[in-house]
Amino acid sequence: MKVASVIVDVPTRQTDRPFDYLIPERWRGVIQPGMRVTVPFGARRLQGFVVDVKDHSEIESLKAIEEVLDVVPVLNGELLDLGRHLTETTLCFAISAYQAMLPAAMRAKYEKVLRLAEEERRGELPDELKSLVAGRTEVAWNEVEAAGLWRAAQKAVQQGVLEAVYNVKDKAGKKTVKSAALAVSAEQAEQALHSLPARQKEVVSFLLKRGEAVPIAKLQATLGISSAPLKALVEKGLAVVRDVEVYRDPYAHRTFQPSEPLALTPAQAQALVKITASVRAGEHRTFLLYGVTGSGKTEVYMQAIEEVLRQGKEAIVLVPEISLTPQMVERFKSRFGPKVAVLHSGLSVGEKYDEWRKIHRKEVQLVVGARSAVFAPFENLGMIIIDEEHETSYKQEEMPRYHARDVAIYRARRHGCPVVLGSATPSLETFARAAKGVYELLELPERVADRALPDVHVVDMREELRSGNRSMFSRRLLDELRLRLDRGEQAVLFLNRRGYSTFVMCRSCGYVVRCPHCDISLTYHRAGERMKCHYCGHEEPLVPRCPSCGGEHLRFFGTGTQKVEEELAKLLPKARVIRMDVDTTGRKGAHEELLSRFAAKEADILLGTQMIAKGLDFPDVTLVGVLAADTMLHLPDFRAAEKTFQLLTQVSGRAGRHELPGQVVIQTYTPDHYSIQLAARHDYRSFYRREMALRKAHGYPPYYYLTLITAAHQEAPAAAKAAEKIAGYLRKQLSNEAIILGPVASPLARLHDRYRYQCMIKYKREPNLSAALKAVIDRYQTDAAHGGVTITVDMNPYMMM
Ligand code: ADP
Ligand code: ZN
Repeated sequence: MKVASVIVDVPTRQTDRPFDYLIPERWRGVIQPGMRVTVPFGARRLQGFVVDVKDHSEIESLKAIEEVLDVVPVLNGELLDLGRHLTETTLCFAISAYQAMLPAAMRAKYEKVLRLAEEERRGELPDELKSLVAGRTEVAWNEVEAAGLWRAAQKAVQQGVLEAVYNVKDKAGKKTVKSAALAVSAEQAEQALHSLPARQKEVVSFLLKRGEAVPIAKLQATLGISSAPLKALVEKGLAVVRDVEVYRDPYAHRTFQPSEPLALTPAQAQALVKITASVRAGEHRTFLLYGVTGSGKTEVYMQAIEEVLRQGKEAIVLVPEISLTPQMVERFKSRFGPKVAVLHSGLSVGEKYDEWRKIHRKEVQLVVGARSAVFAPFENLGMIIIDEEHETSYKQEEMPRYHARDVAIYRARRHGCPVVLGSATPSLETFARAAKGVYELLELPERVADRALPDVHVVDMREELRSGNRSMFSRRLLDELRLRLDRGEQAVLFLNRRGYSTFVMCRSCGYVVRCPHCDISLTYHRAGERMKCHYCGHEEPLVPRCPSCGGEHLRFFGTGTQKVEEELAKLLPKARVIRMDVDTTGRKGAHEELLSRFAAKEADILLGTQMIAKGLDFPDVTLVGVLAADTMLHLPDFRAAEKTFQLLTQVSGRAGRHELPGQVVIQTYTPDHYSIQLAARHDYRSFYRREMALRKAHGYPPYYYLTLITAAHQEAPAAAKAAEKIAGYLRKQLSNEAIILGPVASPLARLHDRYRYQCMIKYKREPNLSAALKAVIDRYQTDAAHGGVTITVDMNPYMMM
């Protein structure tokens, strides 16, 4: 095998295919599909993924692979195939698909070392490697290469004696420490020892004994020396100083109370039997576990996972980022201990990479993580669970624009294992499939232990205003809050900020301060008195006068959590409030800290945004207040009603989950809207029927598929013209049944200084669609006449902006 097909790291349509490269003699039999390599490409050197290894190529004069980046494949055959599937179904480039499957650390700059897995296994090292590794626990990759010990090293890694580790050079520099290491082999260092002054000798002996890089601070403290001896050693070429990432287990300082499986309710038991039967039969099926909030879905997941582990297989649990709370993590850690890896965005690049490595090395059998954990490189999958399957965060909004649910089902089919979709408010797409029998419906209609769903009271805020209450708190909500304070119970107040941020308007002329690059208003942040764009990050100081008329009457509109907090302090001065939003949870660990303070009853009221809507479970919370239920209802999105229903149901679900019964107060300006009315009655099925009828009437999913095409350019006419041409072309290419809407200006008409126009395709079956869209993308990438127009195609849009 002397030719490798490589997907190179250039995300364009022209380069979106494998290129052949010669495998130099020394790497034959070593390079395998799924490894990363460096190859010459035009005048550049690029990284790429080997996707195939073969004997011959059609190309005559092949260039050779220059460098091999991995010791063993980082993508297995299944994931390579999944990447091809993603390119077909989401129209992404293969390189984007493969990169999405790996932790970011592997894209960063790193230094590769081989590390002895355990001291006891030193004897198992291949003879050729023994002398090189003698006296240390890790060797730099360069040394192995220079010594021509490739094959031996690969074998040792495959046997688990050596481990390939990437020491990430973290750009933020947060988690790296300056460390000292020997620059020469142990043998050479020992030879040099006798000619060194005492202090330097101590340093070298210490490094020899440790056999790996040691943080300089630690070195100096342990030996009680200044920095001079090390400096001298570096000058002599005996030692080096480098940045080494400190890996940490983010949960290392935590102890988890082991938990035992609970005795199941009849409904839970029934659901579990169906799922485990599919696990044992090794049969792919997709289940919808539709259970009201507090019905014990998580317990069903955990007992199903136990069966998977008993079968010697692995499981993936996907949880929306926002509900990947410490509480959720704790439940899995308590039940499964060291068998669990956790992947979420709160981890540093290095920590994420560490968790990924545990999976890759088969040290864990279970991963709990956000969307991208669906790519966990398990090879013997026994089940994939998607909790809160209706969450739109399962859809990735950049290339590859995949939905985790589709990826999960594709992988499960290949592994012959079940997928379990869980929700109290399933997406319409999913419930419709369950209704048709494509998915199997499992139902948990009641909360465990005969607990009732909370009483929901809808308050008409227009009525409040009419009777002279200008506060953002209705009288009813205030009364209920006071009652909780008297009784020593707790309350959660929820403020949905999406589309409801604090903007600044001039009361004299109506001027609104907007982002100079994007077509949206800037949001006021009290910290530092600044205005920020939530799309592009543009920031500016708050102006004292209106930039348009010079007037001094600038006013803040909309309600932010800070304003609610201030008003609470006036209305209920005794209440202790914890505020959770992007401002108070930015610091690492802050989220967890605030929640544990609330759990310890150090506060009466938890006030927050989306991030408190899900997954929280506190025994003394008996009141949930929704300050403005309709903020989402009026977004330009056909899913607005569905999202509102889901959010209200989820938020209400936080109340009365334990012995004490729960109350919910929903404040709204549109109390008669069906999504608010039906959420108040916990009536999912009526909502489903009503919303399905509307979707059918207007031709939206799940009755139709959608594809959204956006053209963007610095000049509005150029973007409009491109969108127009595309619409015209598609009208010719597609059948009469396809409906092509637009082009129109996007709801977010300008973003990052670029104007945006969009067309929407609605269709039921369009075999020609994929080819036509590829042609569109091709044309706009190659044709200079379209210079500067960028086209994005989303085959299953969730963001209509
Ligand atoms: P869901 O995920 O459906 O909202 P949870 O799994 O969080 O529900 O369960 C709600 C509460 O009920 C949790 O405190 C959980 O420990 C408890 N619970 C779940 N199943 C049982 C059971 N069979 N017996 C007793 N308590 C249970
Ligand atoms: Zn902006």
